[in-house]
Amino acid sequence: MENKARLSDIETGRSVYIERVKGEGAFRQRIGEMGFVRGKRITVVKNAPLNDPVEFSLLGYNVSLRRDEASLIEVTELPAAERRIHMLPTSGIDLKNHVIDTSTIIRVALVGNPNAGKTSIFNRASGSQEHVGNYTGVTITSRTATFRQDNYTFYLTDLPGTYSLTPYSPEELFVRNFILEQKPDVVINILDATNIERNLYLTTQLIDMNVKVVVALNMFDELLDHRDKLDYATLGSMLGIPFVPTVGSNGRGIFRLFRKVIEVHNGTSSIQRNVRINYGSEVEQGVERIRRSIFASTGTDLVQGVSSRFIALGLMNGDSHLESLIGNLTHFKEILDNAREESIRIGHLMNDSIESVLTVARYGFIAGAMKETFQSGPSDKRKNSNRIDHLMTHKYLGFPVFLLFLWMMFSATFIMGAYPQDWIETGVAWLSDAFNRIMPGGSLKQLVSEGIIGGVGSVIVFLPNILILFFFISLMEDTGYMARAAFITDKLMHKIGLHGKSFIPLIMGFGCNVPAIMATRTIESRNNRILTMLINPFMSCSARLPVYILLIGAVFPQNQGTMLFGIYLIGILMAVLAALVFKKTLFRSSDAPFVMELPPYRLPTARSTLKHMWLKASQYLKKMGGVILVASILIWALGHYPEGQGQQPGPGAQAFHQEQSYMGQLGKKIEPLIKPLGFDWRMGICLLTGVAAKEIVVSTMGVIYQADDSGDGSSSLKANIQAATHAEGLHAGKPAFTPLATFSFILFTLLYFPCIATIAAIYKESGSWKWAVFSILYTTGLAWLVSFVFFQTGSWIN
Ligand code: GDP
Ligand code: MG
Repeated sequence: MENKARLSDIETGRSVYIERVKGEGAFRQRIGEMGFVRGKRITVVKNAPLNDPVEFSLLGYNVSLRRDEASLIEVTELPAAERRIHMLPTSGIDLKNHVIDTSTIIRVALVGNPNAGKTSIFNRASGSQEHVGNYTGVTITSRTATFRQDNYTFYLTDLPGTYSLTPYSPEELFVRNFILEQKPDVVINILDATNIERNLYLTTQLIDMNVKVVVALNMFDELLDHRDKLDYATLGSMLGIPFVPTVGSNGRGIFRLFRKVIEVHNGTSSIQRNVRINYGSEVEQGVERIRRSIFASTGTDLVQGVSSRFIALGLMNGDSHLESLIGNLTHFKEILDNAREESIRIGHLMNDSIESVLTVARYGFIAGAMKETFQSGPSDKRKNSNRIDHLMTHKYLGFPVFLLFLWMMFSATFIMGAYPQDWIETGVAWLSDAFNRIMPGGSLKQLVSEGIIGGVGSVIVFLPNILILFFFISLMEDTGYMARAAFITDKLMHKIGLHGKSFIPLIMGFGCNVPAIMATRTIESRNNRILTMLINPFMSCSARLPVYILLIGAVFPQNQGTMLFGIYLIGILMAVLAALVFKKTLFRSSDAPFVMELPPYRLPTARSTLKHMWLKASQYLKKMGGVILVASILIWALGHYPEGQGQQPGPGAQAFHQEQSYMGQLGKKIEPLIKPLGFDWRMGICLLTGVAAKEIVVSTMGVIYQADDSGDGSSSLKANIQAATHAEGLHAGKPAFTPLATFSFILFTLLYFPCIATIAAIYKESGSWKWAVFSILYTTGLAWLVSFVFFQTGSWIN
């Protein structure tokens, strides 16, 4: 055929028609679901500043694809002949019997594309505070809430956003299994009204599944704004699904939505499902043959409550997850064989893969319905959005704008955050002071003032920074800028096997690893999410800064800035290396293609931003506070017991006591282990306590190294560190903090054990102790190795 070209070769600004999608099944399927099907017009909008990925526009929305993936799509100048697909009313054979349900509980699942507004509707309906965001993949687990309306109790479940129910990504499988296994009474399919054509793809699959559906036509305010005209009542009756307009961000229409759910549940809705999608005579013939062999086994059109039509279509499509569903049927083998035969037969006959035959048919069905009911208005909004986008992803200005934003974010986090941090510090000090005055002396008093108030206080101090950081992140997500940040950094991240979406969490890691790990939930692919969590601790967090500043100031006063920069750089280098290694070993499976929707820019609402911040704050306080509390008490106890001679006040006695305590004993126990790295047992104790939080390394030094001084503040701590000597052994009397040992110590601090709060975050976000424990082991192992090699080579050269 002439005029055939690859999509990757089309210049910016030009429009072409899709002819064929090559590549592997998963890729072809995914891309087809996003609307890349034969005959669709596609426009090249722009290249990312680094020339990869590329932004396209089709079906009225924008999407980004990597260049090598775009090269698998063949396009032509002229549209291919459209295949006509008709909607056929059926005799109702697919319908389950409608029994008027007298029970008052209705279990409802929210299903829809990412960003369609599921979580907003979930929150409005149930009054809860799940986080909303203008960014793909914010909801990765399901969440259920109950509420009452019209004498019914609703069990409402918010599911992850998906573009389809073909189980290629974990999210899609999750949603599909939820529908097939949990069998919600009614599915609410939330559609983004500004993007109906693509959103309806999922709806066609729900039609195949033959479940009870109500469509929430969300973002209806924007549809009106664009002056698009949609006859949704007709569209609804064409699909056999009632449509209810809603506005998730202010709650309009939600009451009516659930009224409709009640009607559909009870079978009293005026619109009844009597529509199925006709896939053309060949496919339908195949479906019939497979359904007959299913019927021969079950005697009904259902297998464990799942429609045989849906199973037949899935099996022809090579959906292995469905095989277990029919595994017990007597004609199991026959059913599978028939499905395989039909799939091959149809493929030959139509000269196309079955996946794309089905996808094309679904989009054909949608196009037909849209033609009769939809009229697009003159949309100025898009133009405005495009103008902003032009700046944000500009070839030369894109990165500077992004860096400026990041710089603002960090400055605000650390400079603005410093004031409330000061107040909280003062408050904590006052509290501890007041406590000391009121309480009589003894262990309990010390436990409360040193262990609990000191330990937990040191964590609460970071709350303002976290709030500010999350204010900015929430802003990025809600406006749609986050997707652009991923767009422009994707090429860089791709080099280490990651996705553009991993960039933000990694950058955030410089502030604090805890919110950074929380931010990984924006990454769709579970592998990439875990990988990003694992390398995140190498981004030197602000808690490690005091350690560096103290030690560099004491031992390397000449080139402080360069040293500091170098340390951060080493951290980044380690992260890159670790990512490359893990990608080759632990996470070898290939990823879903980088198909990312670039949503239009939206003004965030104060309500959603505040809710987001509050949610983060309470999570931080609750979850991390608990762990930190326990850890603080533990460390305090290890340093305090057994209670010995040195009970009189005074720093010298305290140091002596420290040596006798369990902590001191532990330090001496581990000394052989850390000696090859250049550390003595005191340094070992600092590292041990630093496990709770890296700042504690410094405060422990403060206690240990002020033994012979009436030291106050870090200036004299600096002097004490310079003066510190080895107490015993081969190097007795020689300085402990030689440049070599000090840098080895800094390296170790940079790399070893992410703090307990970070581990807790990894546990929570990955959902398993496996990864939390793994990250403790591999970081500490790597830290040891790096320090060992550094110190030993250094000593050998000297
Ligand atoms: P989800 O990914 O489907 O859970 O979508 P979210 O509930 O997180 O919403 C995505 C974004 O769209 C958020 O910024 C919401 O504030 C916004 N949003 C949700 N519903 C509407 C709506 O009806 N109209 C408008 N204009 N914005 C909405
Ligand atoms: Mg959501």
